[in-house]
Amino acid sequence: MSLTRLIYVSTITSEFSLGDIDKILESSYRRNSANNISGVLYFSTRYFMQYLEGDRADLEETYARIIQDRRHANCIVYELEPIEKREFEDWSLAYIPQSESLRSLNSRFMQSAQFNPYDIPQQNVFAFILELKAYLPRVYLEGLTC
Ligand code: FAD
Repeated sequence: MSLTRLIYVSTITSEFSLGDIDKILESSYRRNSANNISGVLYFSTRYFMQYLEGDRADLEETYARIIQDRRHANCIVYELEPIEKREFEDWSLAYIPQSESLRSLNSRFMQSAQFNPYDIPQQNVFAFILELKAYLPRVYLEGLTC
């Protein structure tokens, strides 16, 4: 087992609609659990950023499937690195939608409150993911109170 992390960003296409989020998450929970992959998906109005961790061969097989998905395009891999431990071991795929509380995080990493993951310098991408992880409980609580 070669534990690895993968971080990529992408842009929605005209084939994407908001209702696809639930379908994507359903496929991802099922497939990632079966492949012992964990991670997080961050979605704003136009962009995705996804962090996945697991065995390198499983990650490469999963990513090969993901980039065939016509609901997004312009996939750019920011990192494919060996790691020693998982960051999201309890999540086959945590999901973080854009929310008010993330605007200040966006501003710090992207010089704008609007999420545009193509603007994050590559060397800061993993730090951004770790900060997102810290936001997870708050984002879920906000979702429950909406
Ligand atoms: P199903 O789950 O049976 O497919 C369900 C439905 O999704 C289909 O009926 C169809 O409507 C739609 N669909 C499936 N594939 C496509 C496609 N290529 N183009 C357009 N519509 C399609 N998959 C993972 O396994 N793990 C992930 O972490 C993951 N993350 C994703 C992140 C993003 C941003 C996107 C866009 C997709 C992600 N996916 C992920 C989904 C992946 O791209 C495949 O759609 C999925 O893995 C296919 O699973 P399945 O063969 O079991 O299809």
